[in-house]
Amino acid sequence: MRKYVIMGVQGSGKGTQGQLLARELDLVHISVGDIFRWNVRNHTKMGAQVKRIMAAGELVGDDLVESVVRHRLQQHDWNYGFVIDGFPRNGAQAEFFMESYDLDAVIHLELPDHEVRRRVLSRRLCPSCGMDYNLIADRPEQEGRCDICGHELVTRADDTPEALEARLRDYHEKTRPVLELFQRKEVVHDVDARPPVDEVQAAIRKTLALPPYIPALPA
Ligand code: AMP
Repeated sequence: MRKYVIMGVQGSGKGTQGQLLARELDLVHISVGDIFRWNVRNHTKMGAQVKRIMAAGELVGDDLVESVVRHRLQQHDWNYGFVIDGFPRNGAQAEFFMESYDLDAVIHLELPDHEVRRRVLSRRLCPSCGMDYNLIADRPEQEGRCDICGHELVTRADDTPEALEARLRDYHEKTRPVLELFQRKEVVHDVDARPPVDEVQAAIRKTLALPPYIPALPA
């Protein structure tokens, strides 16, 4: 059983790297941000509660976040373990988490703020199937359309310059101290998030002493 947390500032590739790691190791990938986005898209009561907060780039309240995480982990579909991304994001969440689950490792994706701005502001999302694109590194074949389902691509509501600055501020003020807490427990593995996706994934596997990553060949 493996229990990993993947941390990093917005745009550092937490979702992409978390999914890749989970897929090959048969772990469940849990993204708190994705759970909230699903709720917003499907107009649930929770979606209505978090929509404005997310669009402003602010953090959702701890009680709601913790109940989402608890509920998700209670499903016990993670026989081989899980990779959780976007959580914990402050000291209170970290304490809640450490009381309930013993972690094997925290993967910390490092990316300088100027690179975050460049990446995040060129990010696009398919609102229909959830596929992510990036106008710099990972463009769709047809401009503005999803390669998988053909739906029109959108900018995430929280990928505006104002919301990004709010998230960067929160990250430095609230999330960095969480890293320091984990660092004291000596479970943090720093990984440079600047190289291409495959290289970052290979570095994650190496630092966690997992079997080497073999990227899929292009179709
Ligand atoms: P992400 O996709 O991880 O960037 O999350 C998108 C948004 O969801 C964040 O900007 C927050 O508004 C909210 N969110 C996700 N995870 C958390 C968390 N652990 N604590 C508070 N808010 C969160």
